[in-house]
Amino acid sequence: MELYIAGGCSEHGRNSFLVSSKKCCFLVDAGLMKEKPDEPFPILSDEQIKSIDYLFLTHCHADHAGAIPWLYDKGFRGKIVASRETFNYLPCSVKETVVLEECGKPLREFRMGDDLWVQWGRSGHCIGSVWYLFRIKDRRILFTGDYEERSYAYKCDKIRNVYADLAVIDCAYGYEKDGADAHRKDIERAVDRVKSEKIPSIFPVPAHGRGFDVLRLLAERGIPVVLSKTQVQEYRMLDDRRLWLKRGFLDAVKDLISYDIDDFEKTSDVSDVINEPYQNAGILVRDSQLAKQVNRDSAERVLRSGGCVILTGKQDPSGFARKFLNEERAEFYRISVHQNVDEMLRLARRNSFRTVIPFHCREKLTFRKKTIKVLRPGDRIRF
Ligand SMILES: [Zn+2]
Ligand SMILES: [Zn+2]
Repeated sequence: MELYIAGGCSEHGRNSFLVSSKKCCFLVDAGLMKEKPDEPFPILSDEQIKSIDYLFLTHCHADHAGAIPWLYDKGFRGKIVASRETFNYLPCSVKETVVLEECGKPLREFRMGDDLWVQWGRSGHCIGSVWYLFRIKDRRILFTGDYEERSYAYKCDKIRNVYADLAVIDCAYGYEKDGADAHRKDIERAVDRVKSEKIPSIFPVPAHGRGFDVLRLLAERGIPVVLSKTQVQEYRMLDDRRLWLKRGFLDAVKDLISYDIDDFEKTSDVSDVINEPYQNAGILVRDSQLAKQVNRDSAERVLRSGGCVILTGKQDPSGFARKFLNEERAEFYRISVHQNVDEMLRLARRNSFRTVIPFHCREKLTFRKKTIKVLRPGDRIRF
């Protein structure tokens, strides 16, 4: 058995891992690296790509699924395995598919091929995100995918008491000091303040992920929310909402007071302050870097009205969200959707992994323990 790192170790983006044995060959994720436009694809030869029987997707984000069209162009003829929601949110078309929910429930092992057995669990990162435990003969390999146990919105099947020969674990936050618990306190304090001061707030969030966490925080406090029709539809109409969304989230959004963002944008001239009924609302915009002028205008209006711009995730160094932050016109409280080094080590302690491979972190990581191996794209490890 061999694991080949096609991307995603010692870098942020193009997550892709090839597992091969004599009888089968599968890829876990096929991501793109947006930050390196000259080298965005996983390092895979045409021969390797043609040999892949299955591509298992952990979730829909571009750093895990963005290289699918490229993979097809290069001769990929295998089946793609993912949750139904991941397929729903993929920005590209796919050919032969296997839907996880139709193969079995979370934490139940099912057979995929001659020697390949698969178990999946919800990873708490976004709608449809999963982790995988593969068994090939007597060998086991675990991929956490993007993993967060403490989400406000998404269910997570916590990985516990699992034995694996290799475990490829999310460590995107590297040596960041604070973990999910500390982050939760900070963002909750910020939202409490917005509530008590009755000021407007704006939250630039990505299309899929932290927006639902913010929604719960606002809804639980009775803060009215301004959001798009599609966002409302999404949490109301989701096929398997109970499978993916926490009960606390569903209960909170039941009584949600919401306004349509299109109406909000039409209310008045951008030079105006924010009036009734939006003056103490939380505005959710699906534009995490404030790339769109209309959202920057809304942010300006919020600030002019005595409100605040609250960022909850990574800012692109050259993006507008970072500019607002640098000018001290935005505040940043992380909502964790990944793990840091301490959380990765804690997860390893709660299970029995012979070798741990951190992924998703571009920082230089070093560990005294020989059982933790820091790999790079192009590296191989036998197990
Ligand atoms: Zn992700
Ligand atoms: Zn990711």
